[in-house]
Amino acid sequence: MTDAEVLAFDRAHLWHPYASPVNPPPVFLAERSAGTQIVLPDGTELTDAVSSWWCAAHGHNHPHIVEAIHRQSRTLSHVMFGGFTHRPAVELTQRLIAMTPEGLDSVFLADSGSISVEVATKMAVQYQRATGHPGRCRMLALRGGYHGDTVGAMALSDPEGMHTLFAGLIPHHFFADQPSIAVDGTWNEAAFDSIRTLVEAHTDEIAAMICEPVFQAANAMWFYHPMFLRRMRELCDEHGLLLIFDEIASGFYRTGPRWAHTRAGVAPDILCIGKALTGGHLTLAATVTTSRVAHGIAGGTPGAFMHGPTYMGNPLACAAGIASLDLFAASDYEEKARGIETQLRAGLAPLAARENVAAVRVLGAVGILELRRPPRAEDVRAVILEHGVWLRPFSNIAYTMPPLITPPETVQKIIGALDAVSALPPGPPLPTDGFHE
Ligand SMILES: *Cc1c(COP(=O)(O)O)cnc(C)c1O
Repeated sequence: MTDAEVLAFDRAHLWHPYASPVNPPPVFLAERSAGTQIVLPDGTELTDAVSSWWCAAHGHNHPHIVEAIHRQSRTLSHVMFGGFTHRPAVELTQRLIAMTPEGLDSVFLADSGSISVEVATKMAVQYQRATGHPGRCRMLALRGGYHGDTVGAMALSDPEGMHTLFAGLIPHHFFADQPSIAVDGTWNEAAFDSIRTLVEAHTDEIAAMICEPVFQAANAMWFYHPMFLRRMRELCDEHGLLLIFDEIASGFYRTGPRWAHTRAGVAPDILCIGKALTGGHLTLAATVTTSRVAHGIAGGTPGAFMHGPTYMGNPLACAAGIASLDLFAASDYEEKARGIETQLRAGLAPLAARENVAAVRVLGAVGILELRRPPRAEDVRAVILEHGVWLRPFSNIAYTMPPLITPPETVQKIIGALDAVSALPPGPPLPTDGFHE
């Protein structure tokens, strides 16, 4: 097949994320990738400014991770996790326990971020039922949040998004206001009223509270005050609710510290991690909880936790995860994120003066331009090709979340591309139905 034939076949038969199945926007044909670069068949190189949806923390095709997958594939590529275990799963779990907050020592390996969220909610519901609260089977989530695309995870994400489209399908949860105070803003207790009021009115219906700590990513691209997390912890303890932190986007140093929630000095009962866990090499996520939750579930009926995906604990993915954690341990990633942060702050701040820029936000290795009106897709594509920088703006947000190993000159190149996007003429107004990926 020629490159053109590959693209034509793709267009006719393959569905892409958030795209029309019959009239999709154009895609690039990726031939190979290494480090920060994605290479097209004609040799065009695109710097991956979004870490391939935030997972390629160490850069693409990292030799240490690739070698670990090769090595593992020679002995055990897969075995069902029902009735078997294996060294890669055990070693990965040891490492995860050592790097998550004290007390989180019970691990469910899931095959994607969304599944880890589904698992977290099922843990919470089974726990409440097993400990005498069968009525507590709904969740409290935050407006502006995102927890995945499967039905259960979608139902926890911002209700302005896909909820209207799938209204008849999804379970209904409680939604508190989006945390209104910015990460560096001045704390004000009144900002917590929305969460407190909902919990007090529905204590006996709520199993757990879920949020993306500090960094609301895919839906809002918003950094909020860590005091919200502190208050959530207190409120959950007061009422016997579990607290779930979804660090699938914010984990592994993305906002600076290894876990964003450590800014608040509190720990969750359940922690979801994914994305950068394998450094973007294979799909793997984990739901990590406490022995209190594990024992609670085990003490109920049926005693077993009722979830078990076919590819649970896949050895290749676990080997990739171990190798990725080796890399995180081998150098100071917090320092790398801080370096990118300093550069993004300096480079993006001047863009706030642009007519089409409503706000500039930077935290750790995340740089966000909130635009008044998104530019046309074809104009963005021209910027991508001209600058050799892969960006994927969504809604009115243009942003970068580069691999954490991105060197300063490459970060500068990404800033140049964002500068060019901010200078593009605004496109037509956004549709008002909430769907504009
Ligand atoms: C990406 C993401 C998910 C979903 O992960 P998938 O691997 O895409 O299923 C869930 N929560 C957050 C915060 C995410 O950023």
